[in-house]
Amino acid sequence: MIKENYRQVEQKICEACMRSGRERSEVTLIAVSKTKPVEMIKEAMQAGARVFGENKVQELCGKYEVLPKDLHWHMIGHLQRNKVKYVVGKAELIHSVDSARLAQEISKECVKQGVEADILIEVNVAEEESKFGICMEETEKLVREAAVLPGIHVRGLMTIAPYVDDPEKNRPIFRDLKKLAVDISRKNIDNVHMDVLSMGMTGDYQVAVEEGATMVRVGTGIFGERQYNIKES
Ligand SMILES: *Cc1c(COP(=O)(O)O)cnc(C)c1O
Repeated sequence: MIKENYRQVEQKICEACMRSGRERSEVTLIAVSKTKPVEMIKEAMQAGARVFGENKVQELCGKYEVLPKDLHWHMIGHLQRNKVKYVVGKAELIHSVDSARLAQEISKECVKQGVEADILIEVNVAEEESKFGICMEETEKLVREAAVLPGIHVRGLMTIAPYVDDPEKNRPIFRDLKKLAVDISRKNIDNVHMDVLSMGMTGDYQVAVEEGATMVRVGTGIFGERQYNIKES
């Protein structure tokens, strides 16, 4: 089932690329494996999945330890500063940087470990109160603050769009994020590359690809519904 799902998502990404005149190679599919066991990840690997997204540090580290080292792990969830030390060196990309203090902590840890980290700035485009992320107006300021820190590189922007019944409703949000990335890119800030746009989830990734996503984060569409216990939800 997971293998079939993965291939179907692949297919839909291909189609969205064709519709928008893009190359399939421009878009990375991140299989969001949070809450799902290692066995299911192995099944996705059989279909070709190599990039996995997790939103909890402990879970990312646990899976990182037991799975083959040629996989790529992305930290996509809210990151607490006291947990930064565990993900640096393991997560290839941290999608969820939304404050200068967090960027500073990642930088500090990178310097300490003698490694480099790629980060995205998480933007709350929809300005939903329940969401993490910085507002659009403050994004450039945070990009500039992160750009001067040693050991880290700003690679682009990430957003979590609202949960909607019709994915078309999120198209303006993806457009806004793309536009913001282009605007910031034009400022030619040192140590800043705006080549990653992480946007689109199970419900809306095709629209996100049409609007320029270079990374889509698909969980349910590959692994099925998640079951949370009361504590986690
Ligand atoms: C869980 C999660 C996803 C995947 O959501 P689905 O709707 O299951 O595809 C994507 N991005 C982030 C940040 C998440 O936490």
